[in-house]
Amino acid sequence: MEKVRVRFAPSPTGPLHLGGARTALYDYLFAKHNGGDFVLRIEDTDTQRFVPGAEDYIMESLEWIGMIPDESPKHGGPYGPYRQSERRDIYDRYTEQILKTDFAYMAFDTAEELDAIRAEYEARGEVFAYNYETRQRLRNSIALSQEEVQKLLDEKVPYVIRFKMPFDRVINLEDIIRGKFSVNTNTLDDKVLVKNDGMPTYHFANIIDDHEMKITHVIRGEEWLPSMALHILLYEAMGWQAPEFAHLSLILKPEGKGKLSKRDGDKFGFPVFPLNFTDPATGNVSRGYREDGYLPEAFINMVALLGWSPANDREILSMEEMIQEFDLHKVHKAGARFSVEKAKWFNQQYLQKLSNEEILPEFQKILAENHISIPENQALSIIGVMKERATFIKDIYQEGLFFFQKPETYNEKASKKAWGETTGELMTELIAKLETAHFTPEDIKHTLHELAEEKGLGMGKVMMPLRLALVGELKGPDVPDLICILGKEECISRLNLAISKFSS
Ligand code: GLU
Repeated sequence: MEKVRVRFAPSPTGPLHLGGARTALYDYLFAKHNGGDFVLRIEDTDTQRFVPGAEDYIMESLEWIGMIPDESPKHGGPYGPYRQSERRDIYDRYTEQILKTDFAYMAFDTAEELDAIRAEYEARGEVFAYNYETRQRLRNSIALSQEEVQKLLDEKVPYVIRFKMPFDRVINLEDIIRGKFSVNTNTLDDKVLVKNDGMPTYHFANIIDDHEMKITHVIRGEEWLPSMALHILLYEAMGWQAPEFAHLSLILKPEGKGKLSKRDGDKFGFPVFPLNFTDPATGNVSRGYREDGYLPEAFINMVALLGWSPANDREILSMEEMIQEFDLHKVHKAGARFSVEKAKWFNQQYLQKLSNEEILPEFQKILAENHISIPENQALSIIGVMKERATFIKDIYQEGLFFFQKPETYNEKASKKAWGETTGELMTELIAKLETAHFTPEDIKHTLHELAEEKGLGMGKVMMPLRLALVGELKGPDVPDLICILGKEECISRLNLAISKFSS
């Protein structure tokens, strides 16, 4: 059997959005599931929409996610170059070839001429299409005599090459996800295959490259479904075997209707790009999942489940497990609704799986950014007690601010509840006990129980004011853990601070 080869073929017209990341992921999962190759091809024939930096951004996104292409502009490979702008000589060969068939012709119409015709149609309430009906009346090598064409060529009048859409043929198509459907060629127009500068358009370059690169499966967004019939006919015209196709449905807005757009991200405050992207034209920065604190494993797991259901409705899958399980037939035909809550849930799940040591470097980075320097073992202990409640690593810092600073104020409601007339005395006795206590959670727990017992008080009467003194409010991890992390000196200092605040 022929080796499965799948390509991800983005145009470098901006950052990779969620939909693009999902296409790349399904390309990758399908290729790897079948022991095949994952190829990155940059489709940069449209120079007008080219955005500098976009290609590097795409590569960096794939690397962040952990999908390293087997072949790409960066890694090279046996079927390169992998940037369309560098494949001109290959395209020239096939341009010559298709012109010799009955599937292509030269069209000399200028943009102004076509605009005028379009306007005429519009005035009549009709829409102009360059097709089987109109081509006979336009300036092309089908309508003109051979001499006229030769004359135009001699005069070096620029021309494009158009596909001659066959007349009234029913094209039967099959999509792996959507099944069978058919299209009548009379509904399709004569697409430009080669521009007047000799560069192929997307359609032509795309099928040439898929053929040359021995691509067996084309998995891409549903916006390309209407082009499938043309592509199949192009393969026929060139005498090549077409790959198999699978078109992925849209990713929908959180409310479920319409395509998820960058504006939705701005509006609801979530990223739609894997990494931050700075628009080189405007300097505007779009937020990325990486910079928002998502773990790549969580991001990619979330993306994978936008439109695919693994067996037994499993939700948490590693890349390896996804590769094992991936099945294009289980990809949904309907659009997938994006939910930022779900994205966060995935991150929270993955964060819990990390060891304290794995979280440490990122946590230390956040501490450094906030000019906090604490010993490594203290940082590890903080991670240990705060991780459970955190969705992002940055939450461990934000929710644990009290580890790094004494309370400046005490929550009013909590103070009323926790601190009574005699609490100051009780806390002073506690300080005395802490002076000689052994600072392990077990021993501290014992010390606190001992104090409560001696005083004939319930545990709450000891714990609440203590927590208030240490944190400033009635939240935070287990008190014995908190005490051990803060250490003797800091605890005593905070208790003294509270005693003096509440006694004044
Ligand atoms: N360059 C096209 C895009 O960016 C690729 C479409 C395809 O995969 O055929 O969407």
